[in-house]
Amino acid sequence: MSEVSSEDFEPILAQVRQFVRTRVVPREQEILDTDSVPADIRKQVAEMGLFGYAIPQEWGGLGLDLTQDVELAMEFGYTALALRSLFGTNNGIAGQVLVNYGTEEQKRLWLERIASGDVVASFALTEPGAGSNPAGLRTRAVREGDGWVIDGQKRFITNAPAADLFVVFARTRPADDSGPGIAVFLVPADSAGLQVGPKDRKMGQEGAWTADVTFNGVRVPDSALIGGSEDVGYRAAMTSLARGRVHIAALAVGSAQRALDESVAYAAVAEQGGTPIGDFQLVQAMIADQQTGVMAGRALVRDAAAQYVSGRDRRIAPSVAKLFCTEMVGNVADLAVQIHGGTGYMRGVPVERIYREVRLLRLYEGTSEIQRLIIGGGLVRAQRKSE
Ligand SMILES: Cc1cc2nc3c(=O)[nH]c(=O)nc-3n(C[C@H](O)[C@H](O)[C@H](O)COP(=O)(O)OP(=O)(O)OC[C@H]3O[C@@H](n4cnc5c(N)ncnc54)[C@H](O)[C@@H]3O)c2cc1C
Repeated sequence: MSEVSSEDFEPILAQVRQFVRTRVVPREQEILDTDSVPADIRKQVAEMGLFGYAIPQEWGGLGLDLTQDVELAMEFGYTALALRSLFGTNNGIAGQVLVNYGTEEQKRLWLERIASGDVVASFALTEPGAGSNPAGLRTRAVREGDGWVIDGQKRFITNAPAADLFVVFARTRPADDSGPGIAVFLVPADSAGLQVGPKDRKMGQEGAWTADVTFNGVRVPDSALIGGSEDVGYRAAMTSLARGRVHIAALAVGSAQRALDESVAYAAVAEQGGTPIGDFQLVQAMIADQQTGVMAGRALVRDAAAQYVSGRDRRIAPSVAKLFCTEMVGNVADLAVQIHGGTGYMRGVPVERIYREVRLLRLYEGTSEIQRLIIGGGLVRAQRKSE
């Protein structure tokens, strides 16, 4: 249940929408050119409470539920995706692990600062050779005295260069019948033996940073073990990712809407031989396909979010939404470039940025192939169970 009524949510949504469209959209090029989100925008984001919009009010957040989260995400998707990345890990994959699995003491220690943006939290699951299959991760946590010693390497970790806290998944024992043997730890970025590598040079999403994170004999106290149990790690990762998938789907819808709006605006005025290209039926067909994708995606996201919140489906629907919407935005962005002709291939044109940025959405928080496995495998297993 949301802590915020729909009446109270309305002005929050309106404020975010206005902020994105009037404050961030005009500065997209600056974000791209400097590979960072300007400090004044970060400050406004913090003042609006966006570092903690999905964190319960008890811990200083806005307390929005996933049906409200997706409405905001559709707005964030309308501009450079680096904006969302600033606070995406705090509210999403990293923050939700603490919200759902942290002990009271762990929540007290970290959540308020995460919600305010004083602390940036990163979610460190992926490793070389353990991306789609995180159960194969090799980072180890070994019990020593009244704490743990962590060794291993994580890869492509969003916000690592700016992080104050890492939510780190590590193996405490080999996988066995009792589970995959993966625990999750809270590791401050300034821990001895923790090293963040250079920023990755990516295809897109300038201003959103990722890096490797290496753990060399990093010592943490017992109180750093999330939930005080070695057994919650894998479940925490899976539930945090499932929720995140609905959010990413919404982000995709926002980007698709922007690509559509840019396409319509361009088609209405750009001319060939004195005729606006929007008068050509083949161009109209491309716009029609974009609009259809956006509307279908938006409806699906809202349905998946409602099912998640009611508890009816927290596994298959998130994957369905992520699969459809991230593939959809890839197609919509591709059509947007096509509608713009050669102009669409030029730097500085919004659809060129969108084309590069949305490619990532099909890769992280589970590739499209992994979503298909979750959906297809889940349905077959459910059928067998019911027989
Ligand atoms: C910019 C960026 C930011 C990221 N941020 C984070 C982060 O903050 N935290 C984090 O932990 N991770 C993060 N990731 C990692 C991301 O989640 C992984 O890259 C992703 O899950 C894919 O894993 P992989 O790169 O190891 O590719 P692989 O798993 O090696 O996939 C390669 C190909 O094989 C396919 N494949 C793999 N397994 C199967 C299978 N069983 N059946 C069929 N096909 C399969 C995949 O679908 C894909 O097409 C980020 C990645 C990027 C690029």
